[in-house]
Amino acid sequence: MAQDGSRSAAVSTPGSAGSQVTGKPSEFDLIRKYFTRPVRHTVEGIGDDCALIAARPGMQVAISTDLLVEGTHFLPDADAQLLGHKTLAVNLSDLAAAGAEPRWATLAVALPEADEAWIAAFASGFFALAERHSLDLIGGDTTRGPRSFCVTVMGEVPEGRSLKRSGAIAGDDVWVSGELGGAALALAARLGRTAIGANARAALDHRLDAPQPRVELGLALRGLASAAIDVSDGLVGDLGHICERSMLAARIEYALLPQPQALLALADAPLRSDCLLSGGDDYELLFTAPATCRDELGALSERLGLALTRIGSMHAGEPRATVLDGSGNPIAHRGRGYDHFA
Ligand code: ADP
Ligand code: MG
Repeated sequence: MAQDGSRSAAVSTPGSAGSQVTGKPSEFDLIRKYFTRPVRHTVEGIGDDCALIAARPGMQVAISTDLLVEGTHFLPDADAQLLGHKTLAVNLSDLAAAGAEPRWATLAVALPEADEAWIAAFASGFFALAERHSLDLIGGDTTRGPRSFCVTVMGEVPEGRSLKRSGAIAGDDVWVSGELGGAALALAARLGRTAIGANARAALDHRLDAPQPRVELGLALRGLASAAIDVSDGLVGDLGHICERSMLAARIEYALLPQPQALLALADAPLRSDCLLSGGDDYELLFTAPATCRDELGALSERLGLALTRIGSMHAGEPRATVLDGSGNPIAHRGRGYDHFA
């Protein structure tokens, strides 16, 4: 089992010669210079037709892919380093929701030009987060085209212990980590739909541009949560996925939803409920757990320094999420969740 990072650094291909002729970096120069780092737990990393990995005994491999496209997922002037972070963060968030430990990733990039400063900044954001989670980048593809990034992450989870959307049971509590709606509010401000003070704006921008995948929480929820999903497309839509897969109804209380102060203070009530209920890009974990786990989840919140808030419960009934006001009446909202083709 080679654990030898130096081997993966030796990407040698005929394409490298291109740089000597044109003075411009070839595709292979870019891969070697910006995307090849020593690997820690990989049999064969970057440089061959296929990478080789081996899961540890007793482990299953959890796999997820996310594609980020300019104009759809990020604005053309997005900061390269933040984009490198976010490209990986949204994928790690899926591993977190499965309760899987990050291990490997592949990265396919399309770029309109070989702007080395831009690529270096993107790679620094990507690898800073990869390092934090001991993740090996083991392959990918690099091509010219409209800017887009596709990451596939692979993680390990002990056999049969992954978190699923389908495990909720009637009577379970519904919980969410962190705060909701901050990223959507930042986007609304960026698009000129609302005005927010500079201080609050910086914190919200950070939520939108540099989401923190809840990996440690996901691992700790194995054996505690009955179902889990990450909130990427909006609370009501994503809770709806748990409802469908678990064949249960969910009821949540609007007044209980954890949110940034700037959202709480927002005078525009429709925008506020849009951000809270259908705002995407939060990358918090939404999960269900039996009421017997409340104390343990409280202790876990303390240990992680991460708010965990109980926002409702699961019930027998039509598989969808209902949001209740202070009087227990359903709130009408547009919270269907983000749908690229709707
Ligand atoms: P092939 O043509 O056989 O698909 P490539 O020439 O595209 O291989 O890539 C050479 C090596 O570099 C492969 O190991 C591939 O996985 C890796 N690679 C290409 N682009 C990237 C990237 N953006 N990030 C990480 N590895 C990459
Ligand atoms: Mg290729």
